[in-house]
Amino acid sequence: MFEQEIATFLRRHHYKCVTPAAALIDMDGTLYDSMPLHAEAWHRMATGLGIECTRDEFFLYEGRTGASTINILFNRAFGRDATPEEIKKYYHLKTVYFNEYPKPGKMPGAAELMNLLRDATIRRVLVTGSGQTSLIERLEADYPGIFTPDMMITGHSVTHGKPHPEPFIKAMQLARVSPSASIVIENAPLGVESGDRAGAFTVAVTTGPIPREEFVKAGAAVIFPSMPEAAAAMPQLLLELATTTLQPA
Ligand code: MG
Repeated sequence: MFEQEIATFLRRHHYKCVTPAAALIDMDGTLYDSMPLHAEAWHRMATGLGIECTRDEFFLYEGRTGASTINILFNRAFGRDATPEEIKKYYHLKTVYFNEYPKPGKMPGAAELMNLLRDATIRRVLVTGSGQTSLIERLEADYPGIFTPDMMITGHSVTHGKPHPEPFIKAMQLARVSPSASIVIENAPLGVESGDRAGAFTVAVTTGPIPREEFVKAGAAVIFPSMPEAAAAMPQLLLELATTTLQPA
């Protein structure tokens, strides 16, 4: 079923096989249906500053640190980076707006996917660009016993956010796995790019408005249209990964 995708990935990364020991899992738009609220909060903050923008563009920036997103807006509108004080102020404002909205729900299918990974004895590590505690602190209640603080990479853990590979490389170090023993679960093109650049087999789930082609370009190994579909296919995907070895050409 995934023969073609797995072979393409192995060739591209010069791997003989992928033996997943850890899953590196994104949070917003993957574990939580939070992206529409983030987009709304960013849009409100930016338009309040007189910066023209669309809600959808924030789905494209997803995965960047708050500072990086603010600098994109500032450079476009004012032709310069934001100062550290401005970054602090406007990221705080965006966070205040986000926290005013109703709490986002768990992404349907995400808990099932987490359980399937557990049953396959795959370590689960959170890798989020977010530094917002409102969701990170809810993880234990919503996904109990999975993401202990020592198994989390957040926006505070890294110098470079996605699409830089640093977040996923750090997560591999936490889980003590090599890139070819890692799979990434991501909903954002920049997150997919980051995971692929880190050398992981990257599973993209298109839970937002971004077209599938963007995930192909970003280096997704496989793409699913929803978390329930990703969960339904995961046992077969893991089986095929475990039994596929690339023969030298
Ligand atoms: Mg995400």
